[in-house]
Amino acid sequence: MSAPEKLLHPTDRGLYCPAGDFYIDPPRPVARAVITHGHGDHARPGHGAVLATVETAAIMVARYGAETIGKVETLAYGETQQIGAATVSLHPAGHVLGSAQVLIEGDGGRIVVSGDYKRRPDPTCAPFEPVACDVFVTEATFALPVFRHPPADSEIARLLHSVALFPERCHLVGAYALGKAQRVIALLRRAGWARPIYLHGALFALCELYERLGVPLGPLLPLPEKSKDTLKGEIVLCPPSALADRWSRRLPDPVTCLASGWMGVRARARQRGVELPLVISDHADWDELTGTLSELRPEQVWVTHGREEALVHWAGTQGISARALDLVGYDDDAE
Ligand SMILES: [Zn+2]
Ligand SMILES: [Zn+2]
Repeated sequence: MSAPEKLLHPTDRGLYCPAGDFYIDPPRPVARAVITHGHGDHARPGHGAVLATVETAAIMVARYGAETIGKVETLAYGETQQIGAATVSLHPAGHVLGSAQVLIEGDGGRIVVSGDYKRRPDPTCAPFEPVACDVFVTEATFALPVFRHPPADSEIARLLHSVALFPERCHLVGAYALGKAQRVIALLRRAGWARPIYLHGALFALCELYERLGVPLGPLLPLPEKSKDTLKGEIVLCPPSALADRWSRRLPDPVTCLASGWMGVRARARQRGVELPLVISDHADWDELTGTLSELRPEQVWVTHGREEALVHWAGTQGISARALDLVGYDDDAE
């Protein structure tokens, strides 16, 4: 094992740091976990102890209940904690509220585990902060040159243009409950949409939590009783799974929209019956991934999940040694 691999290496329970005896985003319950962010494939219940940002800890409690989280310790961005022979600190990843890159320093150098991240501005979370390191552990969800996401503001402008064109219809936007829904709402507010935004019941808890944690989202309302008349010309948000279910039949002739990085793939939009695909991603696209590696110039890149091959190959062409970790249990679809 090389020096960095002694400090951190993949196991069947996820990335493990023997010096501090902890795992990062373990897919199964462990005694001690460091959690990068609140998405379900990274933050799971049942660990003995959890170290995360205040926001990620609050998101885990809201989703799973305090009794399932174990002992919770929190770190502010940039604050360090000694765990055994490892020093750990958390740095903004720009993915969702509270999302963090984990910097581990110890015998073996400096390793940054970025979790999921993006480089685009997002009004609902702190921007990604480049952290100098020997090894950078990156995701590869959109790691193909075909993935180049447009600016989110222009996607929101397309949505508002459609709302103006079809005043008799309602616009139903599918957005993941953690991160994407709040980002879409905040982007709509920034674009001048001051009217109430209607929410599927499944989106309220996390929107309220975002507001409590200091992210204003403006007026949000549950669906009214007589939806068909009152929702003409309005915007309604729901989880992607609700787009096609019976619930949406209460809406007046909805224009079905879905906010996802995958909407850049036309076949995916068609498959899901999406009339207005909105390419809004909380993951780095190809330019953001390669730009980040160029900026950090780590000695080594380890790729966790997604389309590893292209990124590993690209790193090689830049003289950065790279390899895929083949971690299982992460769902790159759910963003
Ligand atoms: Zn995520
Ligand atoms: Zn993920």
